[in-house]
Amino acid sequence: MCGVFGIFGHPESANITYLGLHALQHRGQESAGIATCDGHQLYLHRGMGHVIDVFPPEQIEKLRGEIAIGHVRYSTSGGSMLKNAQPIAVDYARGSIAVAHNGNLTNAEALRERLEERGSIFQTNSDTEVIIHLVAISTQRAVEDRVADALGQVEGAYSLLCLTDQALIAVRDPLGIRPLCLGVLPGNPTCHVVASESSCFELIGAQFVRDLDPGEMIVIDRRGLRSSRPFSKSAPRMCIFEFVYFARPDSTIDGVSVYEARKNLGRRLAVECPVDADVVIPVPDSGVPATIGYSQRANIPFELGLVRSHYVGRTFIEPQQSIRHFGVKLKLAPIAHVLRGRRVVIVDDSIVRGTTSRKIVKMVRAAGATEVHLRISSPPNRWPCYYGIDTPTRSELIASTHSLDEINQYVTSDSIGYLSLEGMVEAVVAARSDGVSQRSLPVMQGTKPSADRDFCHACWSGQYPIAFVPHPRHRQMRLLDT
Ligand code: SF4
Repeated sequence: MCGVFGIFGHPESANITYLGLHALQHRGQESAGIATCDGHQLYLHRGMGHVIDVFPPEQIEKLRGEIAIGHVRYSTSGGSMLKNAQPIAVDYARGSIAVAHNGNLTNAEALRERLEERGSIFQTNSDTEVIIHLVAISTQRAVEDRVADALGQVEGAYSLLCLTDQALIAVRDPLGIRPLCLGVLPGNPTCHVVASESSCFELIGAQFVRDLDPGEMIVIDRRGLRSSRPFSKSAPRMCIFEFVYFARPDSTIDGVSVYEARKNLGRRLAVECPVDADVVIPVPDSGVPATIGYSQRANIPFELGLVRSHYVGRTFIEPQQSIRHFGVKLKLAPIAHVLRGRRVVIVDDSIVRGTTSRKIVKMVRAAGATEVHLRISSPPNRWPCYYGIDTPTRSELIASTHSLDEINQYVTSDSIGYLSLEGMVEAVVAARSDGVSQRSLPVMQGTKPSADRDFCHACWSGQYPIAFVPHPRHRQMRLLDT
């Protein structure tokens, strides 16, 4: 759960990176950082909190040069503290380098142990620092070859940006688990940008060029842009969770509109899990497109039955325990006018522990709904993610320990329905801009994508595309309290 942004060849590289990170803020809110280079000196500023708090104008002014990389972080490996904020920058025998990483390395602990045995001293708990040490000790001459050499030894998910004295290097892991795309600034064809999501290009006025291919490395320097594929070819496994929940709906990833994918998920959900109801409402904001799709397919009116507050501060002091359901009430409020006397379908993208869903169902019923039916636009979430999305351990995922009936009882809904794994994959594939019309979705005839093809869906299926063997030193991932 991180976002990366990079730019080459612009006199205001730090300012534009700031804007790019601002548009990627949904990918991580714990810390933010920018590194720049003017060809002689590397400049770095990082801090805890949101982009707008970490970068007052006087800080951005200090970041000089025409090359920049930036990072917003939500920790999945290493704790939430300043020393783990990115970019991570070091001086080593061959110069200076800064690295920004989205993803998670599954063999980081084993590599770290090996490196420490031969004398490396680590400054952070982050798996990303392993890459820097491997670059530093590589025997290759050119920096891009050193980066490729280092990445050839790591396993897991990475969309990686490296800033050197003279170049911006961008790499997507061989399975393409995390997204990474390329853009260009109009009127300046030598000014390239690279980002986790295309949605940030709109804000900075860049044109989308293409997604990086799985396993592709791009080097941008004064000689132009060079692309190579330094790793052996693998079948791609893009994280399908990006389409279900994580990415912004105005992004397009690997040819799939996130917004259309989510509407398709809702349409397919309406086919697989129908119910008689008067109104269908989303859990805002991420559940909105799927609810539109559900409403269209089921022919049930779409309404906003819950409103979300966007102003929940990080340092809010909770009043006494006696105010029940305070956490959810701080974020969501029911519109009784919409709910009273109605049979209501609530559409959400996923259920993690079930505690939030239970509070929402109770809130909607208390506002006067006569029936409350919960519909989830993804399958039951039973497995943790090891590739960079912050999920709880298996025992904390309600679907791994409870049957459908038990979940329905726990969240106190009148009925519950999840989308099937096949339905999820088909709905996302059908949103590809190269093709299949969304109107062909209800029966999905003619589109028979294998659930194993193209996507990682391990947190629902348990089919991990990269084996994860816990290392004795493996630090527990931090838990996400939903
Ligand atoms: S396990 Fe789930 S969240 Fe993690 S990469 Fe795979 S699909 Fe995405």
